[in-house]
Amino acid sequence: MNASPAPQEIFLLKLGEVVLKGQNRQSFEDKLLANVRRRVKNCGSFQCSLRQSTIYVEPQGEDCDMEAAWDACRQVFGIAAVARAVPCEKTVDAIVEAARTYLADAFAVAKSFKVESKRADKMFPMNSIQLSQAVGGDLAELFPHVAVDVHTPDLTVFVEIREKYAYVHTPSVPGAGGLPIGMGGRAVSLLSGGIDSPVSSWMMARRGVELEMVHFVSPPYTSQQAQDKVLELARLLTAWTGRLLVHIVPFTEIQEEIRRNCPEEYFTLIMRRFMMRIAEAIARKANAGALVTGESLGQVASQTMLALGVTEDVTSLPVLRPLIGMDKVEIIRMSREIGVFDTSILPYEDCCTVFTPRHPATRPRLEDVRQAEAALDVESLVQKALADETWVRVKSTDPARI
Ligand code: ATP
Ligand code: MG
Repeated sequence: MNASPAPQEIFLLKLGEVVLKGQNRQSFEDKLLANVRRRVKNCGSFQCSLRQSTIYVEPQGEDCDMEAAWDACRQVFGIAAVARAVPCEKTVDAIVEAARTYLADAFAVAKSFKVESKRADKMFPMNSIQLSQAVGGDLAELFPHVAVDVHTPDLTVFVEIREKYAYVHTPSVPGAGGLPIGMGGRAVSLLSGGIDSPVSSWMMARRGVELEMVHFVSPPYTSQQAQDKVLELARLLTAWTGRLLVHIVPFTEIQEEIRRNCPEEYFTLIMRRFMMRIAEAIARKANAGALVTGESLGQVASQTMLALGVTEDVTSLPVLRPLIGMDKVEIIRMSREIGVFDTSILPYEDCCTVFTPRHPATRPRLEDVRQAEAALDVESLVQKALADETWVRVKSTDPARI
């Protein structure tokens, strides 16, 4: 043994949808590598490099927070699967010993296995087939109840010979999937404090869309706590998206004007049309190509097919509604899985619930809504709200807000 410090465990991240070719593939890989680097940076000094559709994440010293980095890697979109790899000396005996100990649990349940080897170090005295045979032969003796099966094994033992050490991989687990953030363009997501819109934001982010958030507030009808809850939801989402800009738009005057001048049955729809107009203006400034909402067909009166048509009538941007065909139970399951549910159900009011009509129109006619809205000076209300907009930059390293 040499006297250098003990070798450290590394992470292997397998790239996702590699159907992409040429320029797109290059861009996919560049963005993904940059995203991984940015996300593990908070956990210590790591070297990240990409070879053969795998990103290697290697700690550079003893004080790296490996568990935090592992969690961070599992939340990077564009990664299909992740595995840890344990280092050992570059001898067959050491490799067999590493596999025996590190993969003991996997061997205990597997009925068959094979060894697959890769040599980055071409000076290693065996080729990869010889190495696989030697390691496989020894492991077969150590685990006599597990048969060798090179075609469809339960367990594949990956061995990799690199410059300084050999590595044995643990079985991989699923990564976050999707596409690297930045690959899918940019969109503005309407984020309320509810269950739906954090999930819809997450779903679009997973398709590689870089998001800016817009949240409408109606003080004094809505509280500071309600706003903090939304910023906390955004903070939780940054674990997946990286830093987020949240635009906070005052909505009180618009809501009061609607209440004063428009028929009650159209309150919600007219309010939603204002949200779309303002979100579109913010999107144009941000160079974003779409809006995202958490609407789901038929969930509430303002989400019937006719109502959705009335809502999007005021924008020429595509309105992406990833939850459109999902049931509430499925949305709740996702909300839990991505870690936002407990915050979403905190009981603070949203501006949508402030002036809820007793009998909202469920079969609204576009002409009627347009006519009802004509009582308002739409343009100046929109401009005033935009002029009073503020924003908050939310980072994953921020302390919890609620
Ligand atoms: P959520 O659970 O996301 O609040 P919801 O089912 O309660 O959704 P609505 O209140 O009708 O539905 O809102 C529909 C969509 O409009 C939300 O998913 C969100 O995208 C957007 N939205 C609602 N309220 C706000 C708000 N205060 N600020 C920004 N966007 C909002
Ligand atoms: Mg809501």
